[in-house]
Amino acid sequence: MSRIVQKFGGTSVADVERIKNAARRVKQEVDNGSQVAVVVSAMAGVTDRMVELTADISSMFDAREYDAVAATGEQATAGLMALALQDLGIASRSWLGWQIPIRTDGAHGKARIREIETGELNRRLAAGEVPVVAGFQGLGPDNRITTIGRGGSDTSAVALAGALGADRCDIYTDVDGIYTSDPRIVAKARKLDRITYEEMLEMASLGAKVLQTRSVELAMNQKVPLQVRSTFVDAPGTFVVSEDEIVEQQVVSGISHSGDEAKITLLRVADRPGVAAGIFGPLADANVNVDMIVQNVSEDGATTDLTFTVGQGELESAVRVLEDRKAEVGFEKIDADSNVCKISVVGVGMRSHAGVAQTMFRALAEKGINIQVISTSEIKVSVLIAADYTELALRALHTAYGLDDE
Ligand code: ADP
Ligand code: ASP
Ligand code: MG
Repeated sequence: MSRIVQKFGGTSVADVERIKNAARRVKQEVDNGSQVAVVVSAMAGVTDRMVELTADISSMFDAREYDAVAATGEQATAGLMALALQDLGIASRSWLGWQIPIRTDGAHGKARIREIETGELNRRLAAGEVPVVAGFQGLGPDNRITTIGRGGSDTSAVALAGALGADRCDIYTDVDGIYTSDPRIVAKARKLDRITYEEMLEMASLGAKVLQTRSVELAMNQKVPLQVRSTFVDAPGTFVVSEDEIVEQQVVSGISHSGDEAKITLLRVADRPGVAAGIFGPLADANVNVDMIVQNVSEDGATTDLTFTVGQGELESAVRVLEDRKAEVGFEKIDADSNVCKISVVGVGMRSHAGVAQTMFRALAEKGINIQVISTSEIKVSVLIAADYTELALRALHTAYGLDDE
């Protein structure tokens, strides 16, 4: 007998009618003879509202209480989904993170799942019951509720599928699969039948929020077969698979963008050994993640300019850390700009093809878009551009790599 985990995102459970619709999807799998566990998100907009409330009530950010509030949305949906299933004649019970428990580390707001106790769930699955598990939440080492980062229900579902030894994890959402680029921005984006774990991992970490990055990482490590599909249209979605399961590999499979970027330039930094360590060490100590870095060649041999990017949420603390060390590091001025966007082209085929970056640079040049910073890895090329050009750049690149759906 096959075992499946079905995960429903916020828009798929946005109101009573949609929860009932999602419950019918579960019934289809049950009627097919599968054992099914369900993972649900909060109803669309609810988590945002909860996060706003925590900010409105206090300027003191206590991550434990943030989690206590942020996790509430999923509790309601889990109960409602169990009721909807019971209404369809299916035995079902809701489960919160602490009841299972889904154990996480203590990094409130961005906790990582460590282990899931499956004894009780296994017994109930074997007895034909459908457990409905609240996504996004777990139980920390101090017995407090944790949340695992925005979009985290994807990760809850994959972790549960791994722990239960499920044959498949289906992520039901408001698009019918993974596209070559965000279909809400690039009208000619094409649905992919398959994408490799590695490519999806890059796409997600570079801004494609269709799957939380950590969920792809987990699926890859635990070899969980993953499918992204529509809650509203009954058709196969996109399968995330290992590289050897893809016969005809495109050079570029997808294009992602992330507007959550900020650029910092340090002007006239002393050009001597130890300066980079003096700058990036304190930033790391302050938990600021630095992404793209460029250092210009110094003209006079004495000073140089250094540009790098950080997440927008970390810009303020990064500037503060650097201002504090201005004399020590030795630079003249800091320029900060959060009106930037990172565009990335991703594809495992890049390993064996030259000229991928050149196509990108030419396509952007033809549209008069200036590239501010470049970074590359084995299967991706990223550029930083002015945020105003995001849509133009995405569409131009989509055409340039021959990805348009004609
Ligand atoms: P859910 O609430 O179901 O978790 P999300 O909003 O988190 O849904 O993710 C689905 C959204 O991801 C889509 O509506 C789409 O706009 C966006 N998205 C971004 N990049 C892609 C892509 N490459 N393919 C499909 N969807 C994408
Ligand atoms: N409800 C959570 C969020 O909005 C988790 C999720 O939807 O995956 O981030
Ligand atoms: Mg999501």
